[in-house]
Amino acid sequence: FEIYGAPIIGNHDEWNGILLVFHDITDLKKLEQMRKDFVANVSHELKTPITSIKGFSETLLDGAMNDQDTLKSFLTIILNESDRLQTLIKDLLDLSKIEQQGFKLNLQLFDLTNMMEEVMAILSSKAEDKKVSLSFSSDKNIEMEGDHFRLKQVFINLINNAIMYTPPEGSIHVGISDLGSKLKVEIADTGIGIEQEEIPRIFERFYRVDKARSRNSGGTGLGLAIVKHLIEAHKGYISVKSKKNEGTVFSVILYKEFPENKNS
Ligand code: ADP
Repeated sequence: FEIYGAPIIGNHDEWNGILLVFHDITDLKKLEQMRKDFVANVSHELKTPITSIKGFSETLLDGAMNDQDTLKSFLTIILNESDRLQTLIKDLLDLSKIEQQGFKLNLQLFDLTNMMEEVMAILSSKAEDKKVSLSFSSDKNIEMEGDHFRLKQVFINLINNAIMYTPPEGSIHVGISDLGSKLKVEIADTGIGIEQEEIPRIFERFYRVDKARSRNSGGTGLGLAIVKHLIEAHKGYISVKSKKNEGTVFSVILYKEFPENKNS
């Protein structure tokens, strides 16, 4: 609480009491804390690869580069850490753009089934490399109105996560169902699963159940925050069902016709 006080003084300068105003600043404080956490997280995530890049470069310059094997292995680390920095900056800029007040979707009519086939083609070699089977089924060719580029980004993110968090020999199925005025996309994996109490947190920026695993797989912890924003910008809805060590199902519900264009 923030408290303001002022004396209540009568006509003859006598004290009649004190006026106290209690101002509930819980929400403000929460917002301020979230902002501080975000800045701290960003700084930490940026500093880690930079420290590593500097450290390995300095060691090389101090003489370690005379050994060919060391040179190669250190340069590989430097390249990987630069890649991580690049992905992080791209995700951060993207999130800040999406979160801005004036952010506009680029709406168009397109065939979602065709789009998902493109997504499957993009990710199939990654799934193959990891020995995870990737399958797809769709009710029929479903037309929808939405931002093609952004929704493609959403599904690439979700399926990429499914591949990342499913061990070899596991499987992923993507299904599109027609619900009349809406449609549903389900991404089901037989992966590591998520503990029930962690589920509400995974959409938070930088929240990762296992930081080391996420980092090693190239994750930034921003993917699901971006996904949720984009689905909500489409007036859609995302939900998760998961069982630890059994698998996870992400369900996305979207309108076929963008709701703002409806007269109702
Ligand atoms: P990251 O870049 O770490 O994958 P995300 O925002 O995409 O970040 O996801 C947040 C966290 O949610 C992940 O670090 C992981 O712990 C968990 N997660 C996301 N998708 C899955 C999945 N399909 N199976 C298990 N855990 C998942």
